[in-house]
Amino acid sequence: AKEKGRDNAQFFTPEMSNIVAKKFGFEKEINEALALGQFSLVFQPKVLMEKNDILGLEALIRWNHPVKGLISPADFISIAEESNLIIKIDEWVIDQALQQLKAWRDQGLRIVPIAVNLSGRHLVSDSLVPYISQKLIAYGIDGCLLEIEITEGVLLQDIQRCIEVMAELKELDIRISVDDFGTGYSSLSYLKRLPLDILKIDQSFVEECDRHIEDAKICETIIHLARSLELVIVAEGVETAPQADMLKSLGCEIFQGYYFHRPMVSADIAKLLIADPVF
Ligand code: C2E
Ligand code: CA
Ligand code: CA
Ligand code: CA
Repeated sequence: AKEKGRDNAQFFTPEMSNIVAKKFGFEKEINEALALGQFSLVFQPKVLMEKNDILGLEALIRWNHPVKGLISPADFISIAEESNLIIKIDEWVIDQALQQLKAWRDQGLRIVPIAVNLSGRHLVSDSLVPYISQKLIAYGIDGCLLEIEITEGVLLQDIQRCIEVMAELKELDIRISVDDFGTGYSSLSYLKRLPLDILKIDQSFVEECDRHIEDAKICETIIHLARSLELVIVAEGVETAPQADMLKSLGCEIFQGYYFHRPMVSADIAKLLIADPVF
């Protein structure tokens, strides 16, 4: 009887209901944030060798909370991922990114692909492809201007479904990028089975690649792997010249990180793109 009592207690402690209440409170707040326009996007350029040659942008979400101030995506995306709330957020990001491309194009700017981060739940859902294709049409944007970033771990959960959805995304000309590469438990066979375009070397390997031979070797291995699979390689989180130089010497040509550009609001991106108008 005592054992049972303890079991019951596990489900009904005030602490537990407190956590549940907090979670629901937070979900409610995220919903309100969407409705009230408290989210915004910043964009971080991906550059080719020379500092000014921008090949693409990654859209990163920001939550400007009226009381708590700026909340990092690291603090709310994982909670949103526990429910379909993440799909609402991801859809909002896709819509904003495409709307931004249309606005820049209407201003006569050179436009480059925007990458959005998608959660696994959304990738395998039935709604992703119809949503994207409808939005591409609505804004008159080519699929080749949209890129999706998926973390490595997601690909392993339901490879069959990933293959299906990715095939549909490829039909829309959308590029697919594997985020945080090297941190998941990847089997190399899935890389061959999926229609991937880009591998992003995780920041954790970039961080010390100029100081530790082990990290440099890991970067080199990933770069060679990408090359043999004919994938584009991007190093992320590059903060210093020695890191960039090391990665260059290992064969990486596309960089993303504070050393080149921080994530920026759209007006600042426009200033960078304006130097390069469409003709
Ligand atoms: P991520 O996709 O790996 O994004 C890269 C993160 O590294 C971003 O943090 C970016 O601001 C940061 N970063 C870029 N360059 C540097 C650098 O040189 N040094 C350092 N220390 N950091 C750098 P952020 O914006 O806080 O995003 C964190 C994570 O939140 C992202 O990791 C991504 O997993 C998730 N996230 C961000 N925006 C979205 C979104 O719109 N949707 C979804 N589903 N997830 C998002
Ligand atoms: Ca990313
Ligand atoms: Ca990443
Ligand atoms: Ca990351």
